[in-house]
Parts: sequence; structure tokens; C-alpha cells
Amino acid sequence: MTRDRATDQRHDAIRQGETVLELLPPPDAGLVFIGRIETPFKSRRECPRQGTHDGPLCTIHVAADYAPALAGLEAFETIEVLYWLHEARRDLLAQSPKGDGETKGTFALRSPLRPNPIGTALVRLVGIAGSVVTVRGLDCLDGTPLLDLKPDRCAYTPLAPPKA
Ligand code: SAM
Repeated sequence: MTRDRATDQRHDAIRQGETVLELLPPPDAGLVFIGRIETPFKSRRECPRQGTHDGPLCTIHVAADYAPALAGLEAFETIEVLYWLHEARRDLLAQSPKGDGETKGTFALRSPLRPNPIGTALVRLVGIAGSVVTVRGLDCLDGTPLLDLKPDRCAYTPLAPPKA
């Protein structure tokens, strides 16, 4: 150990009379919001349960830093959007979506209420202008944070040969 590191460790040690707060464990994953989604849905009641390809136009505003990552996406008719359902509660293990007392486990549902409220949708790509991607087929609230965009896995032809 270097002398500097040894000195640092001595400074970090707890001295008599000092108290510390027990910190929560660090999160397993750090996500970065890469943009925002604009939809006509201003409340959860207005959102469809699942979007459809004849649904209203929605615009995905990719943050300027990430705009270069859109290159090539315009070639796909269908793309996958991943988003963070930011208004969802995250503590439900069993849910009764119809409110009739019939419950199912959270992982047996596509409910927005889940420990990690990630939503996904396969949407129809209408166009890309700069950092704005216009699509049909979303079901999320106006202002929902964007996590990722990917080409539809069915439409994607891998450049590398398939693995044995
Ligand atoms: N298509 C996604 C999926 O399957 O992963 C989400 C489906 S989820 C059933 C869609 C519902 O989530 C909407 O009808 C609305 O009630 C709710 N929702 C939409 N945006 C939300 C947001 N930002 N925060 C919390 N709930 C949201």
C-alpha cells in the first residue's frame, strides 16, 4: 500500500464519539434517461392499455448528446421503444387489474406497476428529423422518460454470421 493510501484510510476510520448513518445498499444498475416522449395522453386514464400502429402520432425527443446514435434507425419500419413508467408505484407483488379481487403476480402481468417500471412497445416508425423520432403505437403519458430505442428484432438482419 502506498503511503498516501494508508493516510487516506486512517482519515476514513471512525473515531470515538462519531456516528454514521447506515446507508441503503447501492442500486444494482444505473440507468440514464436519454430523452422524453411526447404523447397526446395527459393522464393515465387517457393512455391505451397497449398502443396500436394506427394510434396517434407521438414524438420521441432524443437528448442532443445521444442524437448521433440514431444514424441508421430510419431504415426500419418497426422499432422498439423502452421507457420508464415514472409515475408507477413499485411495491406491488400481486395485483387485481380489473379491481374485482382476482389477483395475479406482477410478473404475470404487463401492468405498469412493477419493481422496475420499464415499458416496451413495438411502434411504427413514421420519420426521423434531427433528434426527433415520430412514431405511432405508444401507450405512455406525455413526458415519459426514454430509456432506449432498438430496431425491431424481426426486421433486423445481423451483419455477423449466426453463432453455431
Ligand atoms: N406497452 C408497455 C408494456 O407492455 O411494457 C406498457 C403497458 S402498460 C399496461 C400501459 C399503461 O401504463 C397505460 O395504459 C397507463 O395506464 C400506464 N402508464 C403510461 N405511462 C405511464 C407513466 N409514465 N407512469 C406510470 N404509468 C404509466
